[in-house]
Amino acid sequence: MQLLALRAQFPALEQTLAGYPLCYLDTAATSQKPQAVLDAMASFYRDDNANVHRAAHQLSARATANYEQVRDKVQAFINAAKRQEIIFTHGTTEAINMVAWGLTEQIDHTSTILIDSAAHHANIVPWQQLAKRTGAKIIAIPLDANGRIDQPAYQALLSNGASIVAMNHVSNVMGTVNPVKEMIAQAKAAGAITLVDGAQAIAHMPVNVNTLGCDFYVFSGHKMYGPTGVGILYGQFEQLDKLSPLLTGGEMIDTVSFEMTTFNTLPNRLEAGTPAIADVIGLGAAIDFIAALPQAATKKREAELLKYLQQQLQQLGQVTLYGAHQDNLGAVAFNLADEHHQDVGILLDQQGVAIRCGHHCAMPLMQSLGIKGCCRASIGIYTSVEDIDRFVEALASVKAMLFD
Ligand code: PMP
Repeated sequence: MQLLALRAQFPALEQTLAGYPLCYLDTAATSQKPQAVLDAMASFYRDDNANVHRAAHQLSARATANYEQVRDKVQAFINAAKRQEIIFTHGTTEAINMVAWGLTEQIDHTSTILIDSAAHHANIVPWQQLAKRTGAKIIAIPLDANGRIDQPAYQALLSNGASIVAMNHVSNVMGTVNPVKEMIAQAKAAGAITLVDGAQAIAHMPVNVNTLGCDFYVFSGHKMYGPTGVGILYGQFEQLDKLSPLLTGGEMIDTVSFEMTTFNTLPNRLEAGTPAIADVIGLGAAIDFIAALPQAATKKREAELLKYLQQQLQQLGQVTLYGAHQDNLGAVAFNLADEHHQDVGILLDQQGVAIRCGHHCAMPLMQSLGIKGCCRASIGIYTSVEDIDRFVEALASVKAMLFD
Protein backbone atom coordinates (compact mmCIF):
# COMPACT_ATOMS: atom_id res chain seq x y z
CA MET A 1 0.00 0.00 0.00
CA GLN A 2 1.33 3.44 -0.89
CA LEU A 3 1.94 5.78 2.01
CA LEU A 4 -0.68 8.28 0.84
CA ALA A 5 -3.34 5.58 0.73
CA LEU A 6 -2.24 4.34 4.14
CA ARG A 7 -2.39 7.82 5.65
CA ALA A 8 -5.83 8.36 4.19
CA GLN A 9 -7.08 5.60 6.48
CA PHE A 10 -6.26 7.68 9.56
CA PRO A 11 -8.91 10.43 9.65
CA ALA A 12 -7.30 12.33 12.55
CA LEU A 13 -4.23 13.05 10.43
CA GLU A 14 -6.31 15.09 8.00
CA GLN A 15 -6.70 18.24 10.06
CA THR A 16 -5.14 21.62 10.45
CA LEU A 17 -4.06 23.19 13.74
CA ALA A 18 -3.83 26.97 13.90
CA GLY A 19 -3.75 26.99 10.11
CA TYR A 20 -1.01 24.37 9.83
CA PRO A 21 -1.61 20.79 8.70
CA LEU A 22 -1.14 18.48 11.67
CA CYS A 23 2.35 17.00 11.86
CA TYR A 24 1.86 14.17 14.35
CA LEU A 25 5.12 12.98 15.86
CA ASP A 26 3.72 11.69 19.15
CA THR A 27 2.85 8.14 18.18
CA ALA A 28 4.83 6.71 21.13
CA ALA A 29 2.34 8.41 23.48
CA THR A 30 -0.57 7.06 21.49
CA SER A 31 -0.98 6.15 17.85
CA GLN A 32 -3.73 7.48 15.63
CA LYS A 33 -6.49 5.01 14.77
CA PRO A 34 -7.37 3.74 11.30
CA GLN A 35 -10.97 3.89 10.08
CA ALA A 36 -11.16 0.09 10.31
CA VAL A 37 -10.69 0.27 14.09
CA LEU A 38 -13.24 3.09 14.47
CA ASP A 39 -15.72 1.15 12.33
CA ALA A 40 -15.25 -2.11 14.23
CA MET A 41 -15.96 -0.41 17.55
CA ALA A 42 -18.96 1.55 16.23
CA SER A 43 -20.34 -1.60 14.64
CA PHE A 44 -20.00 -3.52 17.90
CA TYR A 45 -21.96 -0.89 19.82
CA ARG A 46 -24.50 -0.50 17.01
CA ASP A 47 -25.11 -4.13 16.09
CA ASP A 48 -23.68 -6.57 18.62
CA ASN A 49 -23.74 -4.82 21.97
CA ALA A 50 -24.28 -7.27 24.82
CA ASN A 51 -22.29 -8.41 27.79
CA VAL A 52 -19.94 -11.34 27.28
CA HIS A 53 -19.92 -14.78 28.89
CA ARG A 54 -23.17 -14.14 30.73
CA ALA A 55 -26.55 -14.39 29.08
CA ALA A 56 -28.11 -17.25 27.23
CA HIS A 57 -29.32 -15.00 24.40
CA GLN A 58 -27.98 -14.77 20.87
CA LEU A 59 -26.69 -11.24 21.07
CA SER A 60 -24.53 -12.12 24.04
CA ALA A 61 -23.33 -15.26 22.28
CA ARG A 62 -22.30 -13.12 19.30
CA ALA A 63 -20.53 -10.55 21.50
CA THR A 64 -18.75 -13.38 23.33
CA ALA A 65 -17.67 -15.04 20.09
CA ASN A 66 -16.31 -11.74 18.73
CA TYR A 67 -14.53 -10.99 21.99
CA GLU A 68 -13.00 -14.46 22.32
CA GLN A 69 -11.94 -14.41 18.68
CA VAL A 70 -9.67 -11.48 19.49
CA ARG A 71 -7.93 -13.64 22.10
CA ASP A 72 -7.06 -16.06 19.29
CA LYS A 73 -5.84 -13.17 17.13
CA VAL A 74 -3.57 -11.89 19.90
CA GLN A 75 -2.31 -15.42 20.54
CA ALA A 76 -1.35 -15.78 16.87
CA PHE A 77 0.02 -12.22 16.69
CA ILE A 78 2.62 -12.86 19.42
CA ASN A 79 2.87 -16.62 18.88
CA ALA A 80 1.76 -17.66 22.37
CA ALA A 81 1.43 -21.39 22.95
CA LYS A 82 -2.09 -21.28 24.41
CA ARG A 83 -5.08 -18.94 24.15
CA GLN A 84 -5.40 -19.04 27.96
CA GLU A 85 -2.05 -17.27 28.12
CA ILE A 86 -3.65 -14.09 26.76
CA ILE A 87 -5.29 -11.92 29.42
CA PHE A 88 -7.20 -8.77 28.47
CA THR A 89 -6.29 -5.86 30.73
CA HIS A 90 -6.91 -2.13 30.46
CA GLY A 91 -3.34 -1.47 29.37
CA THR A 92 0.34 -2.04 30.09
CA THR A 93 0.12 -0.33 33.48
CA GLU A 94 -2.64 -2.59 34.70
CA ALA A 95 -0.89 -5.67 33.31
CA ILE A 96 2.34 -4.95 35.22
CA ASN A 97 0.37 -4.20 38.39
CA MET A 98 -1.39 -7.54 37.99
CA VAL A 99 1.93 -9.37 37.80
CA ALA A 100 3.58 -7.42 40.63
CA TRP A 101 0.55 -7.95 42.86
CA GLY A 102 0.12 -11.53 41.76
CA LEU A 103 3.69 -12.47 42.70
CA THR A 104 3.36 -11.20 46.29
CA GLU A 105 3.19 -14.67 47.78
CA GLN A 106 6.22 -15.85 45.80
CA ILE A 107 8.49 -13.00 46.96
CA ASP A 108 9.99 -12.27 50.36
CA HIS A 109 12.70 -10.24 52.08
CA THR A 110 15.43 -12.41 50.55
CA SER A 111 14.26 -11.59 46.99
CA THR A 112 15.91 -9.14 44.61
CA ILE A 113 14.07 -7.38 41.80
CA LEU A 114 16.24 -6.05 38.97
CA ILE A 115 14.74 -3.21 36.95
CA ASP A 116 15.98 -1.64 33.71
CA SER A 117 17.14 1.93 34.46
CA ALA A 118 15.35 3.11 31.33
CA ALA A 119 12.03 1.60 32.46
CA HIS A 120 8.77 3.54 32.32
CA HIS A 121 7.28 4.36 35.74
CA ALA A 122 4.66 1.69 35.01
CA ASN A 123 7.47 -0.85 35.15
CA ILE A 124 9.03 0.61 38.32
CA VAL A 125 6.34 1.68 40.76
CA PRO A 126 4.38 -1.63 40.90
CA TRP A 127 7.67 -3.42 41.75
CA GLN A 128 8.41 -0.85 44.45
CA GLN A 129 5.00 -1.52 45.95
CA LEU A 130 5.74 -5.26 45.81
CA ALA A 131 9.05 -4.61 47.56
CA LYS A 132 7.25 -2.57 50.24
CA ARG A 133 4.81 -5.41 50.89
CA THR A 134 7.46 -8.13 51.04
CA GLY A 135 10.75 -6.51 52.07
CA ALA A 136 12.34 -7.46 48.74
CA LYS A 137 15.23 -5.38 47.44
CA ILE A 138 15.09 -3.36 44.21
CA ILE A 139 18.24 -2.84 42.17
CA ALA A 140 18.39 -0.72 39.02
CA ILE A 141 20.26 -2.27 36.09
CA PRO A 142 22.59 0.53 35.01
CA LEU A 143 22.95 1.93 31.50
CA ASP A 144 26.23 2.48 29.69
CA ALA A 145 27.35 5.84 28.30
CA ASN A 146 25.35 5.15 25.11
CA GLY A 147 22.05 4.73 26.89
CA ARG A 148 22.00 0.96 26.52
CA ILE A 149 21.87 -1.62 29.32
CA ASP A 150 25.36 -2.10 30.74
CA GLN A 151 25.58 -5.82 29.97
CA PRO A 152 28.61 -6.67 32.20
CA ALA A 153 26.89 -4.88 35.10
CA TYR A 154 23.71 -6.86 34.35
CA GLN A 155 25.66 -10.15 34.41
CA ALA A 156 27.24 -9.17 37.70
CA LEU A 157 23.85 -8.37 39.23
CA LEU A 158 22.40 -11.67 38.03
CA SER A 159 25.34 -13.58 39.49
CA ASN A 160 24.41 -12.16 42.91
CA GLY A 161 20.94 -13.67 42.53
CA ALA A 162 17.66 -12.24 41.23
CA SER A 163 14.05 -13.27 41.67
CA ILE A 164 12.51 -10.97 39.08
CA VAL A 165 13.94 -9.06 36.12
CA ALA A 166 11.76 -6.30 34.65
CA MET A 167 12.94 -4.77 31.40
CA ASN A 168 11.93 -2.65 28.47
CA HIS A 169 11.78 -4.19 25.06
CA VAL A 170 12.10 -0.73 23.52
CA SER A 171 12.65 2.49 25.51
CA ASN A 172 9.71 4.88 25.28
CA VAL A 173 12.12 7.82 25.47
CA MET A 174 15.15 7.00 23.32
CA GLY A 175 13.81 4.17 21.17
CA THR A 176 16.75 1.95 22.17
CA VAL A 177 16.12 -1.76 21.75
CA ASN A 178 17.21 -4.14 24.49
CA PRO A 179 18.66 -7.53 23.49
CA VAL A 180 15.77 -9.09 25.38
CA LYS A 181 16.16 -12.63 24.08
CA GLU A 182 19.68 -12.86 25.51
CA MET A 183 18.77 -10.97 28.69
CA ILE A 184 15.80 -13.28 29.29
CA ALA A 185 17.93 -16.41 28.80
CA GLN A 186 20.52 -15.08 31.26
CA ALA A 187 17.84 -14.14 33.79
CA LYS A 188 16.19 -17.56 33.46
CA ALA A 189 19.57 -19.27 33.96
CA ALA A 190 19.86 -17.27 37.20
CA GLY A 191 16.40 -18.51 38.22
CA ALA A 192 14.57 -15.17 37.81
CA ILE A 193 11.04 -14.54 36.58
CA THR A 194 11.13 -12.19 33.59
CA LEU A 195 8.73 -9.45 32.53
CA VAL A 196 9.20 -7.55 29.29
CA ASP A 197 7.41 -4.24 28.79
CA GLY A 198 6.58 -4.34 25.10
CA ALA A 199 4.48 -1.15 25.00
CA GLN A 200 6.87 0.51 22.55
CA ALA A 201 7.92 -2.61 20.67
CA ILE A 202 4.63 -4.14 19.66
CA ALA A 203 3.83 -1.66 16.86
CA HIS A 204 7.33 -1.61 15.42
CA MET A 205 8.57 -5.19 15.29
CA PRO A 206 7.24 -8.72 15.14
CA VAL A 207 7.08 -10.10 18.69
CA ASN A 208 7.34 -13.83 19.24
CA VAL A 209 6.96 -14.66 22.93
CA ASN A 210 7.73 -18.28 22.24
CA THR A 211 11.18 -17.47 20.87
CA LEU A 212 11.79 -14.79 23.49
CA GLY A 213 11.08 -17.23 26.32
CA CYS A 214 9.92 -14.54 28.77
CA ASP A 215 7.51 -15.37 31.57
CA PHE A 216 5.45 -12.22 31.00
CA TYR A 217 5.10 -9.80 28.08
CA VAL A 218 2.81 -6.77 28.30
CA PHE A 219 1.55 -4.09 25.92
CA SER A 220 -1.25 -1.58 25.27
CA GLY A 221 -3.70 -1.51 22.37
CA HIS A 222 -3.57 2.24 21.94
CA LYS A 223 0.09 2.30 20.90
CA MET A 224 -0.54 -0.21 18.10
CA TYR A 225 -3.29 1.66 16.21
CA GLY A 226 -5.98 0.22 18.48
CA PRO A 227 -8.17 1.93 21.08
CA THR A 228 -7.33 3.09 24.59
CA GLY A 229 -8.71 1.03 27.46
CA VAL A 230 -7.35 -2.34 26.40
CA GLY A 231 -4.00 -4.03 26.85
CA ILE A 232 -2.54 -7.48 27.00
CA LEU A 233 -0.91 -9.48 29.72
CA TYR A 234 0.78 -12.49 28.16
CA GLY A 235 2.17 -15.02 30.62
CA GLN A 236 3.41 -18.57 30.36
CA PHE A 237 0.53 -20.73 31.56
CA GLU A 238 2.25 -22.06 34.69
CA GLN A 239 3.32 -18.55 35.72
CA LEU A 240 -0.08 -16.97 35.09
CA ASP A 241 -1.77 -19.79 36.90
CA LYS A 242 0.28 -19.05 40.02
CA LEU A 243 -0.56 -15.32 40.12
CA SER A 244 -2.93 -14.20 42.86
CA PRO A 245 -5.65 -12.17 41.16
CA LEU A 246 -5.41 -8.41 41.72
CA LEU A 247 -9.08 -7.95 40.92
CA THR A 248 -11.71 -10.25 42.30
CA GLY A 249 -15.47 -10.38 41.73
CA GLY A 250 -17.73 -11.53 38.94
CA GLU A 251 -16.54 -13.73 36.08
CA MET A 252 -13.29 -14.74 37.78
CA ILE A 253 -14.99 -17.18 40.16
CA ASP A 254 -16.06 -20.78 39.98
CA THR A 255 -18.25 -20.95 43.10
CA VAL A 256 -19.09 -18.32 45.71
CA SER A 257 -20.59 -18.72 49.15
CA PHE A 258 -20.23 -16.54 52.24
CA GLU A 259 -17.89 -19.15 53.63
CA MET A 260 -15.60 -19.49 50.66
CA THR A 261 -14.97 -18.68 47.00
CA THR A 262 -13.21 -20.82 44.45
CA PHE A 263 -11.66 -19.24 41.38
CA ASN A 264 -12.26 -19.90 37.71
CA THR A 265 -9.57 -21.25 35.38
CA LEU A 266 -7.44 -19.11 33.08
CA PRO A 267 -8.02 -16.76 31.36
CA ASN A 268 -11.21 -15.86 33.29
CA ARG A 269 -9.47 -16.09 36.67
CA LEU A 270 -7.58 -12.91 35.80
CA GLU A 271 -10.43 -11.06 34.06
CA ALA A 272 -12.79 -9.94 36.81
CA GLY A 273 -15.85 -7.87 35.92
CA THR A 274 -17.16 -6.71 32.57
CA PRO A 275 -14.18 -6.25 30.26
CA ALA A 276 -13.66 -3.42 27.77
CA ILE A 277 -15.52 -5.39 25.12
CA ALA A 278 -15.68 -2.77 22.37
CA ASP A 279 -12.03 -1.90 22.94
CA VAL A 280 -11.05 -5.56 22.64
CA ILE A 281 -12.99 -5.69 19.35
CA GLY A 282 -11.11 -2.55 18.25
CA LEU A 283 -7.81 -4.20 19.17
CA GLY A 284 -8.76 -7.16 16.99
CA ALA A 285 -9.33 -4.78 14.06
CA ALA A 286 -5.96 -3.13 14.74
CA ILE A 287 -4.23 -6.52 14.61
CA ASP A 288 -5.96 -7.29 11.30
CA PHE A 289 -4.88 -3.89 10.03
CA ILE A 290 -1.22 -4.42 11.00
CA ALA A 291 -1.21 -8.00 9.73
CA ALA A 292 -2.44 -6.84 6.29
CA LEU A 293 0.53 -4.49 5.83
CA PRO A 294 3.59 -5.71 3.93
CA GLN A 295 5.70 -6.49 7.01
CA ALA A 296 9.25 -6.29 5.66
CA ALA A 297 8.60 -3.15 3.58
CA THR A 298 6.84 -1.38 6.46
CA LYS A 299 9.64 -2.19 8.90
CA LYS A 300 12.27 -1.03 6.40
CA ARG A 301 10.44 2.23 5.71
CA GLU A 302 10.10 2.98 9.43
CA ALA A 303 13.77 2.18 10.04
CA GLU A 304 14.86 4.49 7.20
CA LEU A 305 12.57 7.23 8.43
CA LEU A 306 13.98 7.05 11.95
CA LYS A 307 17.55 7.20 10.63
CA TYR A 308 16.58 10.21 8.51
CA LEU A 309 15.03 11.87 11.57
CA GLN A 310 18.19 11.28 13.64
CA GLN A 311 20.40 12.61 10.82
CA GLN A 312 18.30 15.72 10.20
CA LEU A 313 18.34 16.59 13.89
CA GLN A 314 22.10 16.09 14.09
CA GLN A 315 22.61 18.28 11.03
CA LEU A 316 20.56 21.09 12.51
CA GLY A 317 23.27 21.72 15.08
CA GLN A 318 23.08 22.51 18.79
CA VAL A 319 20.83 19.52 19.22
CA THR A 320 21.79 16.81 21.73
CA LEU A 321 20.41 13.36 20.97
CA TYR A 322 20.13 10.77 23.73
CA GLY A 323 20.90 7.12 23.09
CA ALA A 324 20.44 7.51 19.33
CA HIS A 325 21.50 4.32 17.53
CA GLN A 326 20.94 3.00 14.03
CA ASP A 327 18.88 0.07 15.27
CA ASN A 328 16.54 2.12 17.48
CA LEU A 329 12.81 1.95 16.93
CA GLY A 330 10.12 4.58 16.82
CA ALA A 331 11.50 7.50 18.82
CA VAL A 332 14.24 10.11 19.11
CA ALA A 333 14.99 11.95 22.37
CA PHE A 334 16.70 15.31 22.16
CA ASN A 335 17.23 18.74 23.63
CA LEU A 336 17.87 21.97 21.78
CA ALA A 337 21.01 23.46 23.39
CA ASP A 338 20.00 24.28 26.96
CA GLU A 339 16.53 25.52 26.05
CA HIS A 340 13.76 24.17 28.23
CA HIS A 341 12.12 21.19 26.52
CA GLN A 342 8.66 22.56 27.31
CA ASP A 343 9.38 25.87 25.52
CA VAL A 344 10.52 23.96 22.46
CA GLY A 345 7.38 21.82 22.50
CA ILE A 346 5.04 24.79 22.84
CA LEU A 347 6.71 26.70 20.02
CA LEU A 348 6.58 23.65 17.75
CA ASP A 349 2.90 23.20 18.58
CA GLN A 350 2.24 26.73 17.34
CA GLN A 351 3.28 25.43 13.92
CA GLY A 352 1.08 22.34 14.11
CA VAL A 353 3.92 20.00 15.11
CA ALA A 354 2.97 17.59 17.92
CA ILE A 355 5.83 16.10 19.92
CA ARG A 356 6.11 15.15 23.61
CA CYS A 357 8.20 17.00 26.18
CA GLY A 358 8.97 16.24 29.80
CA HIS A 359 10.32 13.31 31.77
CA HIS A 360 8.25 10.83 29.74
CA CYS A 361 7.32 8.84 32.85
CA ALA A 362 10.97 7.81 33.14
CA MET A 363 12.44 10.02 35.87
CA PRO A 364 15.20 7.51 36.75
CA LEU A 365 16.27 7.52 33.10
CA MET A 366 16.37 11.34 33.10
CA GLN A 367 18.66 11.06 36.12
CA SER A 368 20.92 8.56 34.33
CA LEU A 369 21.12 10.95 31.38
CA GLY A 370 21.81 13.88 33.69
CA ILE A 371 18.82 15.91 32.49
CA LYS A 372 15.49 17.07 33.91
CA GLY A 373 13.59 16.33 30.76
CA CYS A 374 13.77 16.28 27.00
CA CYS A 375 11.77 16.42 23.80
CA ARG A 376 10.73 13.24 22.00
CA ALA A 377 9.66 12.90 18.39
CA SER A 378 8.13 9.54 17.54
CA ILE A 379 6.94 7.96 14.34
CA GLY A 380 4.43 5.37 13.14
CA ILE A 381 3.43 3.58 9.96
CA TYR A 382 1.74 6.74 8.64
CA THR A 383 4.69 9.10 9.19
CA SER A 384 6.13 10.60 6.00
CA VAL A 385 9.44 12.19 5.02
CA GLU A 386 7.43 15.42 4.67
CA ASP A 387 6.44 15.15 8.35
CA ILE A 388 10.10 14.93 9.34
CA ASP A 389 11.04 17.81 7.05
CA ARG A 390 8.26 19.99 8.44
CA PHE A 391 9.31 19.17 11.99
CA VAL A 392 12.97 19.95 11.36
CA GLU A 393 12.08 23.20 9.56
CA ALA A 394 9.85 24.18 12.46
CA LEU A 395 12.63 23.33 14.93
CA ALA A 396 15.05 25.45 12.88
CA SER A 397 12.67 28.38 13.19
CA VAL A 398 12.29 27.77 16.96
CA LYS A 399 16.07 27.72 17.22
CA ALA A 400 16.32 31.02 15.32
CA MET A 401 13.60 32.54 17.51
CA LEU A 402 15.22 31.46 20.77
CA PHE A 403 18.83 32.16 19.84
CA ASP A 404 18.52 35.42 17.88
N1 PMP B 1 5.61 1.25 29.35
C1 PMP B 1 6.06 1.96 28.31
C2 PMP B 1 7.41 1.65 27.74
C3 PMP B 1 5.26 2.96 27.78
O1 PMP B 1 5.70 3.69 26.75
C4 PMP B 1 3.99 3.22 28.35
C5 PMP B 1 3.11 4.34 27.82
N2 PMP B 1 3.73 5.56 27.71
C6 PMP B 1 3.58 2.44 29.42
C7 PMP B 1 4.40 1.45 29.88
C8 PMP B 1 2.24 2.63 30.05
O2 PMP B 1 1.25 2.30 29.14
P1 PMP B 1 -0.29 2.59 29.43
O3 PMP B 1 -0.34 4.04 29.84
O4 PMP B 1 -0.96 2.32 28.14
O5 PMP B 1 -0.71 1.69 30.53
